[in-house]
Amino acid sequence: MTNYIIPSVEFYQRMPDRRTSDELKTIAHIKRFLEILTGDRKFREQLKGNPDKADELVRSKGLTIDLPRFSCKFKPVLLYDGKDPEFPLAMLWREWIEDLLKFRSMLREDGYSDTTDPRFNAWRKRQVERTNSEMGMLRGDAITHPIFSFELSKGCSVGCWFCGLGARSFKGHFERTPKNVSLWRDILNTTVELFGSAVQTSFCYWATEPFDNPNYLDFLQDYKDIVGVLPQTTSAVPTRDLVWTRRLMGMIKAGNALPSRFSILNSKVLKELHRIFSPEDLMRYELLMQLKESSYGKARAGKTYNKLNSENCADGGLQVNPLVSSIACVSGYLVSMMDRTIKLVSPCQATDQWPEGFRIHDQGTFSDAKEFGDFIKDSISKHMPASLPLDKPVSFRKDLFYEHLDDGGGFALSTDCSAHSFTGDEFVIRLGDMVAEGTHNPVEIIGALVDSGADIFGIRGTLNDLYDKGFLEDLVI
Ligand code: SF4
Repeated sequence: MTNYIIPSVEFYQRMPDRRTSDELKTIAHIKRFLEILTGDRKFREQLKGNPDKADELVRSKGLTIDLPRFSCKFKPVLLYDGKDPEFPLAMLWREWIEDLLKFRSMLREDGYSDTTDPRFNAWRKRQVERTNSEMGMLRGDAITHPIFSFELSKGCSVGCWFCGLGARSFKGHFERTPKNVSLWRDILNTTVELFGSAVQTSFCYWATEPFDNPNYLDFLQDYKDIVGVLPQTTSAVPTRDLVWTRRLMGMIKAGNALPSRFSILNSKVLKELHRIFSPEDLMRYELLMQLKESSYGKARAGKTYNKLNSENCADGGLQVNPLVSSIACVSGYLVSMMDRTIKLVSPCQATDQWPEGFRIHDQGTFSDAKEFGDFIKDSISKHMPASLPLDKPVSFRKDLFYEHLDDGGGFALSTDCSAHSFTGDEFVIRLGDMVAEGTHNPVEIIGALVDSGADIFGIRGTLNDLYDKGFLEDLVI
């Protein structure tokens, strides 16, 4: 198992091999240029006000980018589609981003494996389909649906006002005692036994700051020994202890690592990180611009779910986006090593029921790896039927709006972000109506429609399609 590395990680590792060293240097400098542009309002305004002095301004930041070969205008740089051969650096950047997007899609596919119970694979696929329809393809496509997240501490010491996962205050960390190390390794071995290479999509933080566990990197090394790859780390305090940060970077450099990220909470951290590490050092680290000067607003979920924006605040980074959202990504298991709890979760738009942007399908506790594995097997049997259960009432998801198509040839299901139509004969509409009532099981629906002359295979096919595409509510089965 440890010799097998999922294709997405292989692809990500080889991205630099497909570029010359000059191209890599240019990419690193463009990345830093865009970080400063996004995170430094003063720089943005200077650039906007003095486009003719752009080269000088960029050089003052220690960057060498031939800007006329990147874009003729600076404002639309981020939107530029890179198709014009007049701008070869824009094309270089675009191809780099395309590779990152390809990696992201591959990682989502790597969450399926032959070792995994097919019922889990089908359940996860339904969650992927559901989130795509619930959040829209643009947002849905950004979610990789890792199958495990392990928390190695409880709460978070950073306390961001915008925490999309609603992290509570820090309550301590999973200590590296011999007993805990043994439990940790047993748990990881169990995940690999049950899910094989798909576990390589997982990571070791959630509503926690990795740094809060002084042995986080030691636990990560165990993870790599057993799972085969170094998981993603996202830290909001990359300059808190540079020895720690450099050790993390060294472990990543050793290979077979997923990309890691640093959240930038204020301009001091951005400047310090840029001062200490060269553009090349940070080329493979995404910087999440969470500082107030950022041009991006915050996701509405977790701590910001009910937050009102103050009227006189112009800083983009202090604004919460108007529409609800989610930053959750796991379709699988959320594990707290401190509390010994395990939850079956999947991402969703934040709602009154799920303000933190993820559904909890089931939860339990464990005291050892056997109980941990038993919970997983039970949850699969309980919540992940191999196919649509025929004897339980079916209904459309609550967030879907149901209506007949204008021409009477079927029905439509829509959310704020997507629309889907199901066309066919009169029986398709009657099927839609019966599902919308939410009180009939598939046997009753099939029976009623076949008695009226419908084709049994057509009706079953439509019901299965609705189920597989995540349009039917599957939270309580
Ligand atoms: S966003 Fe991250 S660092 Fe900030 S409070 Fe939430 S978990 Fe902690």
